[in-house]
Amino acid sequence: MAKRALVTGVLGQDGAYLAKLLLEKGYEVYGGERRSASLNTWRLEELGILGDVRQMPLDLLEMTNLMRTIETVRPDELYNLAAQSFVAASFEQPILTAEIDAMGVARLLELVRTIQPQCRFYQASTSEMFGLVRETPQTEMTPFHPRSPYAVAKAFAHYLTVNYREAFGLHASSGILFNHESPLRGHEFVTRKITMGLAAIRHGREEVVELGNMESQRDWGFAGDYVQGMWRMLQEPQGDDFVLATGATHTVKAFVEVAAAAAGFNVAWEGAGEQLRAVDRKSSRTIVRVNPKFYRPAEVEILQGDASKARTRLGWKPAMTFEQLATAMMEADLRRSQHLF
Ligand code: NDP
Ligand code: GDP
Repeated sequence: MAKRALVTGVLGQDGAYLAKLLLEKGYEVYGGERRSASLNTWRLEELGILGDVRQMPLDLLEMTNLMRTIETVRPDELYNLAAQSFVAASFEQPILTAEIDAMGVARLLELVRTIQPQCRFYQASTSEMFGLVRETPQTEMTPFHPRSPYAVAKAFAHYLTVNYREAFGLHASSGILFNHESPLRGHEFVTRKITMGLAAIRHGREEVVELGNMESQRDWGFAGDYVQGMWRMLQEPQGDDFVLATGATHTVKAFVEVAAAAAGFNVAWEGAGEQLRAVDRKSSRTIVRVNPKFYRPAEVEILQGDASKARTRLGWKPAMTFEQLATAMMEADLRRSQHLF
């Protein structure tokens, strides 16, 4: 009989890639979606799996709805990917973020423990928990110092996942994933904001992309590689915590440079601080500049992960490089942008 997987947040970036992977592996995939006034299935459509995912109404805020969904699906594996996932928004909506990203996980774990304790559980934890980093690179042993309500909520969820594993013997794993992107990344994250913005400039619909802190550094990988690691964690004999990362870190400026080159611009940096801007050498036009409104109340300046444990234990390693990722995202947005005419 086919294994049954329940994926919360299936309409998000990782949900779509994971659903595709699980379908390819022969799973029955149940995708949890919260109600929305407008259709939000574009990622499943882009991956060609819209008709293959069994869509279930699921909202992490609503305990009874979660209970009915778990009772109906009786999943063998539950991947909790649903979240208010945007750090900047968490400073504006800290309570909602905590309700979804922290208490939502408490609701799920309680229901798994009560209704389906044999179900293997994956929690989408994040490198943002390292925040003001204590050491570089960061491993599963590096202490946390979260710098946003999002990261604080995720740290609660991480510790609760560990606790349910230890206290109740659940097969519960926490994947501490560093930033991972793709052409399906949400519009507000910096990588996609850059590639969408540059594509719009290329096609004459925008003048300039405005960003916040371009000196900050991230360990960016490809989401399609990272969902493989999630699945591998749940195939282990026991639950555990694993960092997934590329091991390389780059500034936002470096991402701009690679994406801009892929869009046919040749960037020179001018100015510093709030005056920093990227000028296209060919046209002498400023295509990227700073707008301090995108600065965060507290910043995570640098993240760089060490995924040795995942490499050794899970045989996992990412395939796509930073340059390939930025180029693929840029090319996808140039193609999409062309169709707008
Ligand atoms: P996305 O924001 O693309 O997807 C999150 C999904 O969760 C969306 O489909 C969203 O629904 C859904 N959701 C939000 N609130 C609720 C709710 N109350 N009940 C049910 N569903 C809800 O995130 P990603 O796919 O990029 O990330 C997946 C997970 O991994 C998230 O938990 C994220 O925090 C975590 N993570 C991501 C990293 C990354 O770099 N991508 C790094 C580390 C961790 P809707 O479409 O309606 O908004
Ligand atoms: P995060 O690591 O989960 O916060 O992912 P983001 O893609 O949202 O941000 C990555 C880094 O880019 C952070 O240090 C942001 O401060 C920085 N950044 C600079 N300008 C922007 C911007 O305009 N939007 C976003 N989202 N991030 C920006």
